[in-house]
Amino acid sequence: MPANKKLLLLPGDGIGPEVMREVRRVIDWMAHRRAISFDLAEDLVGGASIDVRGTPISDSTLASARDADAVLFGAVGGPKWDSLDFDKRPEIGILALRRELGLFANLRPALVLEPLVEASTLKPEVVRGLDLMIVRESTGGIYFGEPRGIDSLPDGQKRGINTEVYTTGEIERVGRIAFELASRRRKRLCSVEKANVMESGLLWRQTIAALGAREFPGIALSHMYADNCAMQLVRNPRQFDVIVTSNLFGDLLSDLASMLTGSLGMLPSATIGAVDASGKRPALYEPIHGSAPDIAGKGIANPMAEILSFAMLLRWSFGLEDDAALIERAATRVLASGLRTPDVMAPGCARVGTAVMGEAVVRELDKLAA
Ligand code: NAD
Repeated sequence: MPANKKLLLLPGDGIGPEVMREVRRVIDWMAHRRAISFDLAEDLVGGASIDVRGTPISDSTLASARDADAVLFGAVGGPKWDSLDFDKRPEIGILALRRELGLFANLRPALVLEPLVEASTLKPEVVRGLDLMIVRESTGGIYFGEPRGIDSLPDGQKRGINTEVYTTGEIERVGRIAFELASRRRKRLCSVEKANVMESGLLWRQTIAALGAREFPGIALSHMYADNCAMQLVRNPRQFDVIVTSNLFGDLLSDLASMLTGSLGMLPSATIGAVDASGKRPALYEPIHGSAPDIAGKGIANPMAEILSFAMLLRWSFGLEDDAALIERAATRVLASGLRTPDVMAPGCARVGTAVMGEAVVRELDKLAA
């Protein structure tokens, strides 16, 4: 098994190290019970790196990330570093990683586990069994397009400008990832834009349609306007398998979709880049939550998002589908047994802390593998 796979752990700040500790239990279990071991390294990022090295991410950490087969990230940031200039803050650590590794596609699953079906603000019959994936373009579009800025006009007004720009190359590379994901799932892809009012949206639609016809004829491709997609996600989210969209629309729609599932502490994500000449695809996996300074140090953070990020890593970076599914099943069984961290607490359940949840996942793994 892949003992040669290099895995870099970057726990970061706040609850990052607390939830990463629980992933280490799962990694140890994998090594003992499944003979899957990794060439494992751990390094500093964010505020933890600022405190020791004076920078949110050092060149050597960036080099280790480039060298790794996958990076598992915790979270960065916290009030201790909030007064620093923007370019020196902990969050620069994650931005630098995305830039250095060329991570242009953000994958955000929205998965409703049966024991948490009541945690959604939508009715159980609408979200039960939900399993969709949003692929958001993450290095282009209106957040990066030029021209941008705030001008002064001759009449004394000011004018704010941002520009939505996409090239066919940028659309194709993120589209290809979405098609590939769909081909490993239920083989349906919905491409989302505003082709009715935006030229960049029209190019997006034409490019995705041509890519699908040329390279992925087996995938059922549909197109949807972004405003309709927002409505459809709330009306009938289970109609979707994979959604691919721009940076701006993906930002909004993925937050909307994540809340269909009820809790921030449950949701993993991945950001991936293009396959290089050696066949390696750079990838970083992280929970969607931040460093949660309000609960850091209390031992009550939900470790599931980080554990499920590790499952995603096994599936997408290492092709270990069975092991990823095993971890997901163990996590579901822990929740079904009634153990809950405070963020997903429900009547009749037992309130426990981070470590008890991690230990319980390992116990369920033991049972499943028995
Ligand atoms: P947050 O996600 O850290 O917390 C939002 C709320 O959700 C808090 O009440 C928190 O207690 C709760 N929460 C989050 N994760 C949880 C978990 N695993 N278990 C239980 N409860 C959980 O967002 P925020 O408060 O807006 O940001 C806090 C810090 O995190 C800021 O410095 C921000 O910049 C940073 N941040 C970092 C990342 C990242 O590292 N990728 C992402 C978002 C925010």
